[in-house]
This record gives sequence, structure tokens and C-alpha cells, in this order.
Amino acid sequence: MKLVSAKTMLETARKEGYAVGQFNINNLEWTKAILHAAQEMRSPVILGVSEGAGKYMVGYNTIVGMVEGMMETIGVSVPVALHLDHGSFDAAKACIEAGFTSVMFDGSHLSIDDNVEKTKEIVKLATAKGISVEAEVGSIGGEEDGVVGSGEVADPEECRRIAKTGISMLAAGIGNIHGTYPDNWQGLNMDVLKEIGETTDNIPLVLHGGTGIPDAMVREAIGYGVSKINVNTECQIEFTKAVRTYFEAGKDKVGKGFDPRKVLKPGYDAIIKVVKEKMTLFDSQGKA
Ligand SMILES: [Zn+2]
Repeated sequence: MKLVSAKTMLETARKEGYAVGQFNINNLEWTKAILHAAQEMRSPVILGVSEGAGKYMVGYNTIVGMVEGMMETIGVSVPVALHLDHGSFDAAKACIEAGFTSVMFDGSHLSIDDNVEKTKEIVKLATAKGISVEAEVGSIGGEEDGVVGSGEVADPEECRRIAKTGISMLAAGIGNIHGTYPDNWQGLNMDVLKEIGETTDNIPLVLHGGTGIPDAMVREAIGYGVSKINVNTECQIEFTKAVRTYFEAGKDKVGKGFDPRKVLKPGYDAIIKVVKEKMTLFDSQGKA
């Protein structure tokens, strides 16, 4: 199956009351792990690429080639969207050109008027190619590629305005943050989420910072219209932990244990485990 836009998969998820996971990729192993997990779980999936990861993987063209080639060879038959995560205006344009099937334009640091205007421009370019667009209102706390947000709670009126630009999905800050959550975290603001859901005409809502939100809270948020949940940190933590265990056990010093394919295998397996667990929690398994 070819890469698809995230629009239909998320509208279906919104209607049927589950969420599709966005799992960020960093290299070949991560991509392969997430694609295999999605295929095994019969789940739609979104591969997220931050601008930093895009540079690391030698540019958007390289990534499109890698993902498309891998999907063909594995024989992936579930819907997969290749999505730019927290893109600048220029990065969104570059990904639309490069063959991504979904882009996020993050104008949350702009005034709402500028955010609406710039989002409209991206929507116009993307829609002409059948590419889905995610916009953001109210910056999401924590750090993403060096940008530190304070974890604002979005204004439902601003959400209503940006939802009308023709975007496919909306990320709104509701107290969620990137990275790990501090011990004194107040939890997601469900009242605001509910209000945003009501003012944005059933547009699929996106929950960033999916690592460390209690399961019950995740399910409650899905009930209020969250149809896409971004998971990144958890895969990183589990990948690194598994590779560290390999070294600590001295396995790299046994036989050909120094082979990089053997070194990364425990990390690869750990990502598969996280992705499958999330798909079960989000209830997207068996939906493709
Ligand atoms: Zn994010």
C-alpha cells in the first residue's frame, strides 16, 4: 500500500471513538519496528518526523525513499501516513514537495491572526496534493527540538478560528507537555478539551506529549475527540534502556556481539513492544 494522508484515518477514528498513534522515527530501525508493529496489530499508523530528525536522516527525500521502499518490501497493507511534526512554514512546504502525506505547521508561537493566515497558505498547498495538515494553538509545554513551550491551555475561540482554515486535525494545548511529566503535574484539562471539541465541529483533535499520561486519562481524552496521540519520548527511553542492558550484560563481547545489527536488536524489539501497547491503549488495533 502507498502512503496515505492522515485525514480519512483520523476522521474514521474520531467517529468510531479510538485514536491513531503518531510514533516519531529516527532511523531505519525505528521505521522498520513501527511498520512491523502496525502491520501485526492491523492498525493504521502515523510516522512522525521532526525537523531535527529530518536533518539527521539526511533530508526529507531520503526519508520518503526509505519509508516507501520499506513498505513495499514488507508488504504493508495498513494505512500509513508520513507526517512532519512541529514544522516551520518552510519545512512544511519542503515536505509537501518531498512526498510526505501529512504535515504539521506549528504556528503556535505566532499571534492567532498570523497563525491563521500562515496555516491557510499551507492548507492551500497541501490540499492541492491531497496532503493532510495539522495546526497548533496554545503551545505545548516541554522541549521539542530545542523549542521550550510553557504548557499553555488553548483558547477555545482561537481553536474555532483555526479549525475553519481547512486543516484536517488540530493540536491544542490542554496542559500536556513533551518529554516526561513532573511529579506535580496537574493532569489534562478535560473541561477545556471538552469545550474545544464542541467548538471545532468534530475535527479530529491531537494530543501531543503522550508519554506518561495515565491510561485512564488517555481514554477519557479519546472520548472527548482526541483521535491522534503523539508518542516519542517513551520509545526513546525504552530503546536506550534495552541497548544499555545489552552492553551491561557484556553481550557485545561474546562472539560477534559487536555486530551493530545485534547491538540494536534489543532496542528494536523494545520499540515494537511500546508501539503495540499504545495501539492497544488507543484501541486502534484491528481497525485496518
Ligand atoms: Zn509535539
